Amino acid sequence: MSNTATTTSRAPTAVTDTVRTVAGEGDVIDFSSAVDALITWGRRSTRARTKPRRSIKLGSYSASERLIRVHPVLDKPWVPRYFVSYIVYHEMLHHVIPSSQGSGRRMLHPPLFQERERLFRDFERSLAWERAHIGRLLRAA
Ligand SMILES: [Zn+2]
Repeated sequence: MSNTATTTSRAPTAVTDTVRTVAGEGDVIDFSSAVDALITWGRRSTRARTKPRRSIKLGSYSASERLIRVHPVLDKPWVPRYFVSYIVYHEMLHHVIPSSQGSGRRMLHPPLFQERERLFRDFERSLAWERAHIGRLLRAA
């Protein structure tokens, strides 16, 4: 998924090409089971907001639909590509590593998930970018 090419097409597409883009440069994650997932931009809310937005879900994964949704606010020229890749990577991990049942509590990000997430080559850089730009993202969403 590029920041520019997909703005007109909102239909879910196979995640295969995105997997190649995201995991392409020698990443250690085996995403062979992710190729049957789909990816799409999330829909923009049409409801007018009465209060300023205080949080934002930049990506989501629906296990029942096998569908990754990426927030349309990331479809902006000032959002670096590695950050979009990080969001997609994170959601693909949800597809590959199901949430586990801990001691009665559902763990959305079990230790194995977190371990593998840190293997993303721009992990620290992406977190730093998010911290630095969260205000702008919230205003732009
Ligand atoms: Zn998550």
